[in-house]
Amino acid sequence: MDCIFCKIAAGEIPSNKVYEDEQIVAFYDIEPKAPVHVLVIPKQHVTGAAAITADNAAVVAHVFATIPQIAKTLGITDFRVVTNNGADAGQTVHHLHFHILGGGKLGDMA
Ligand code: 5GP
Ligand code: ZN
Repeated sequence: MDCIFCKIAAGEIPSNKVYEDEQIVAFYDIEPKAPVHVLVIPKQHVTGAAAITADNAAVVAHVFATIPQIAKTLGITDFRVVTNNGADAGQTVHHLHFHILGGGKLGDMA
């Protein structure tokens, strides 16, 4: 499948990884929108938040269960977790990913 994040998960495209286990990978965003900007993805291809189901939600729970450890590794206590679903929300990569944004004062969004 021609998916850039599947390729990053498989190690076929290099990335600056901060965390990896059998289910998920976290790596620095190539175009950071905050002083610290990391993406967390499931290794399995899920197109986005609208494609989360009872069958694949366990990996999403695992992402959130691991975020505190990733934040600790990044040295941030204050951060925002965001996922964009669909073009109007700004989704450009159609493989589920959670942005971890931090490292400074973030602008109000929600
Ligand atoms: P979205 O706009 O879909 O919510 O987020 C996609 C994010 O992936 C963007 O912030 C973009 O900078 C990042 N991105 C796109 N291609 C690559 C890549 O090849 N490597 C890395 N590390 N980040 C990428
Ligand atoms: Zn994918």
